[in-house]
Amino acid sequence: MTHARISLHLVLLLLFCCSSWTHAAVLVSIKPIHSLVAGIMQGVEDPQLLLSGGQSPHRYTLKPSDARNIQQADLIIWIGPEMESFLPRILTASERPNIALLDLLKSENKASHNHDHEDHAGRDPHLWLDPLLAKRVVQLIADRLSLLDPKHRGSFEKNALTLQQRLDRLHQELESRLAPVRTTPYIAFHDAYGYLEARYRLNSVGTVILDPERLSGARHIRDLQQKIRHTGVGCIFTEPQFEPRLVESLIEDTATRNAELDPLGSDLPAGPDAYFQLMRRVANQLVQCLANK
Ligand SMILES: [Zn+2]
Repeated sequence: MTHARISLHLVLLLLFCCSSWTHAAVLVSIKPIHSLVAGIMQGVEDPQLLLSGGQSPHRYTLKPSDARNIQQADLIIWIGPEMESFLPRILTASERPNIALLDLLKSENKASHNHDHEDHAGRDPHLWLDPLLAKRVVQLIADRLSLLDPKHRGSFEKNALTLQQRLDRLHQELESRLAPVRTTPYIAFHDAYGYLEARYRLNSVGTVILDPERLSGARHIRDLQQKIRHTGVGCIFTEPQFEPRLVESLIEDTATRNAELDPLGSDLPAGPDAYFQLMRRVANQLVQCLANK
């Protein structure tokens, strides 16, 4: 065999071997969104998760390994600077393609003159907590992935459809699960549940902290104590990403109960089911504490 033939074989071999793994490397910031992306990409490739531990994205600082992962990604999917305030600088510096879901939803709303979500929530970044909004997010991401990796468009579209049907069923389930506790007042830990509360018409009367990046001031704490004493607050929720001591002192000598509510599914195994597990658990945590009244 001549050298020319050998190198031709080598080229063909490389083309063959490598064309099967030239999938897009997709990096997703937080677990709930990662779970939806994993559902869309099922059977094609697993997306990577940036915040894989129990950290709050509101207080996260990047590690050198995160910077490396960002540098190697073909697409980074995140919520927006209101959620991952640690990301914009490095995204600009890395010049890697990225999708900020809040911007994507906003431009879609503009295009379709659908001001629904913009109006009630402004830039509440916890958009995954409404399964019907998650359906739209799934569609937007599937469309972007199809542009990035057109060879797998068929799989992305089929998976997105299955996922949207699953989200419809989840919505039905949450609707009937949450109906009995709709009117009971409660205080959430941080302002994360606007989408959930609007979708299921829940009765939130405040949050323990006003800003997840800062400590609550004395006046806000006095306001909370007033509310707890005078509005029959059934439950105050803690979150695993935050220190619960403030909640414990707030409910001392009152009839108000406390329980944990986890909007991120910190301890759940990442993957296509994580989203559904976390949403069902949020509903159960709400119902268990509020129905007890
Ligand atoms: Zn939050």
